[in-house]
Parts: sequence; structure tokens; C-alpha cells
Amino acid sequence: MPSGKVHAAMTFSVATGVLAPYAIVQLNGNPYLYVAGNLVGLLVTPDLDLNNDNYSHYLIRKIFYPAYWIWKIIWKPYNLLIPHRSPISHFPLLGTLLRIGYVFLLLNLFNLLFSLVSDTVSFVWVWDTWFFLGLAHVDTIHFLADNLIKSKEQFGNE
Ligand SMILES: [Zn+2]
Repeated sequence: MPSGKVHAAMTFSVATGVLAPYAIVQLNGNPYLYVAGNLVGLLVTPDLDLNNDNYSHYLIRKIFYPAYWIWKIIWKPYNLLIPHRSPISHFPLLGTLLRIGYVFLLLNLFNLLFSLVSDTVSFVWVWDTWFFLGLAHVDTIHFLADNLIKSKEQFGNE
């Protein structure tokens, strides 16, 4: 039988999986952007702070191999600067905001380089609260799983 911590993590996952759609309906939110945030959260995961590949690298390698190398290069400075499981990469909302900021920093640096050859300079920024909440939801479950589930033995048949 799983431990109380594993039960707590599973209960949280199910409860938020039920509450999130309810909140979207009640608050007239955008379910498509929320789910898009969930799916992007599978790729832009807190574990991008690992020096080794993580599940997002595996997914991208499976989908389109050349994109794997681009993905590695994009996230290399992030994983060099941030220690694995640091609160700034893993803590709910904080880690999500950090990765969003990192992506927009890179986009704006790329945009600045592009502006050297084109004449237009513009700041790149897009925000959608429901997309952000979708991202934050999966990041929070990731954080809880990292902290509550310490080993595979917790899933054993006790
Ligand atoms: Zn993690």
C-alpha cells in the first residue's frame, strides 16, 4: 500500500484535475489555453535544471531529432546557472515564472540580434493567465511529486 505522502500527492493530482476544469467553467476561462499550458509544461519542465537529459529532451528527440540539439542549446545556460531542484526552478509559481522569463529573455535577445539586420526593434511579450495557470498546475504537481515521492518502493505492495 502506498504511503500517506503518495496518497496525498495522488489526491492532490485528482482534486486539481477536477477543480481546474470547474474553475475554468465558473470563471469563464479558456480551456484550450489551459490545456496548452499543461502540454507545454511537459516540455518546459522544472527538471530543465538537470545537467543530463530529462523527459522533455526524450520527447523532442522522438518527435524531431534536430530540434533536440536546439533544445539542448537553448536550455544549457539555464541548467548551468540553476542547481537541480533549487527553489527558484522548482517552487510552485516561482519556478514557472522563472522559466517564462527565461524564454522571453532569449526571445528578446534573438529579436535584438535580428533587429541589427532589419531596422525594426520591438519587445516580445505575450501573456495569458489561463495558459500560465496550466503551466503552473503541472509544475506544482511536479514539485509535490519530487518532494513526496522519494523512491519507487513507496509504490510497493505493503
Ligand atoms: Zn524535479
